[in-house]
Amino acid sequence: MKTVKSPFHFKGGVHPDYNKELARDKPIEKLPLPAELVVSMSQHLGAPAKCLVKVGDFVKRGQLIGEKNGFISVCVRAPADGKVKAVEKRLGPAGGKADAVVLDTTATPEPAPDANSPTPPPTNSPTPILPPLDWKTATREELLKRVEEAGICGMGGAGFPTSVKLNPPPGKRCEYLVLNGAECEPYLTADFRVMLERADRIRLGVEIMRKILGGPAVRIAIEANKPEAIAAMEKAFADIEGNVEIVVLPVLYPQGSEKHQIYATVGRVVPEPPALPIDVGCVVENVGTVAAIADAVEKGEPLLERVTTVSGDAVVEPKNILAPSGTKYADLVAFCGGEKEPPAKVISGGTMMGFAVSTLEIGTTKTTSGLLLLSKKKVFQYASGACINCGRCLRACPMNLNPALISKAVDANDIKAAEDASVMDCIECGACSFGCPAYRTITQSCRRAKNSIRARIAAEKAKAQAAKKS
Ligand code: SF4
Ligand code: SF4
Repeated sequence: MKTVKSPFHFKGGVHPDYNKELARDKPIEKLPLPAELVVSMSQHLGAPAKCLVKVGDFVKRGQLIGEKNGFISVCVRAPADGKVKAVEKRLGPAGGKADAVVLDTTATPEPAPDANSPTPPPTNSPTPILPPLDWKTATREELLKRVEEAGICGMGGAGFPTSVKLNPPPGKRCEYLVLNGAECEPYLTADFRVMLERADRIRLGVEIMRKILGGPAVRIAIEANKPEAIAAMEKAFADIEGNVEIVVLPVLYPQGSEKHQIYATVGRVVPEPPALPIDVGCVVENVGTVAAIADAVEKGEPLLERVTTVSGDAVVEPKNILAPSGTKYADLVAFCGGEKEPPAKVISGGTMMGFAVSTLEIGTTKTTSGLLLLSKKKVFQYASGACINCGRCLRACPMNLNPALISKAVDANDIKAAEDASVMDCIECGACSFGCPAYRTITQSCRRAKNSIRARIAAEKAKAQAAKKS
């Protein structure tokens, strides 16, 4: 195992204020179980899980409450014992509504009518939910199945089903497993703390993933501004065998982008969509996901909770909090001592790629890496103006796009022009909007165009299928 500096540098990128000092030295704290959890059936990329419970049901921690509903989908398990209060559409972190199970975790089951079969007590206990596996003797198929039944998806933000990612299609082989420990989003320190405090789990997760993927080389990507994390990984991986390197990346946003990380670590370029990292022999996983795989296999613990950074200058005490999925943002903020002042903006995620939200009644998901409360001082209060053709967004764009052209096309409702300008290649990193002197909301324009194109493609597919049937 060795530590090297990244020899490959991508074009573009920006240097936002990182503001990580607010939470980086705060050890992970476990949140006491909230009285209510809002557990979404859509915590991942792909088809939402199919809800298996109804109002009035009692569920046990770890019980399957949402069934995987398609190839690109992930199951959902109850993060705690509780009574189902409601099954209804609820607002999610990205602004859309999805089916959610609202759990009352204070309710206790009614006594069983038969005295000889007493109702078992609540089981919010560390009893294994799935039978622990010995990864060394388990088969690849058993390990893959475990990742699937544990409901694991990418925890870095995208939420791609991990069991699908770890099972390349025929003809594709993973040559490099890249661990994403860049965490380049401002304010967020959850991955940083996981690398410091759960280094042994990351090491074990890597061993398991190497076995599943047939022994690829491993590259652990960390930005140079996290020397403690680099040291923690060096210690954890010191005696590992095989081709393993820690790659120190220059501090530049968006180093955490999957495509840019592949380039920075192994010098390979992922072609435009629908190409995937596996098309260039790579699989990228966030460090939190890797630790979750270790827990699922060795401890039989599904993905029921995660570390979320709550930060910003409008929260009393920024923290890194281990909380069950479905924890309402309001409960996270209360655990941080509440609001220092009414926030001018609340962001689900980081400032570059996150989503502004209007309520704290949203439940966390498996991908909720951060929650930011920002005061007026930290929020741009300027109205968006006309493009002055300065070209700054072109220089910042790490995907070599022309963001100005795309945003003007979207303003003119000319989605075809945005598509011709390769808007589907946009990774929604926010680097273009970050430096725009006219405060144009370019990234939102890109998202709008991409959503519109996806909707059109889906409608065309449905129409073609209907025509085929008739
Ligand atoms: S156009 Fe997309 S990829 Fe390029 S800087 Fe803007 S958000 Fe990032
Ligand atoms: S940075 Fe803003 S003002 Fe400059 S070219 Fe891009 S969109 Fe126009």
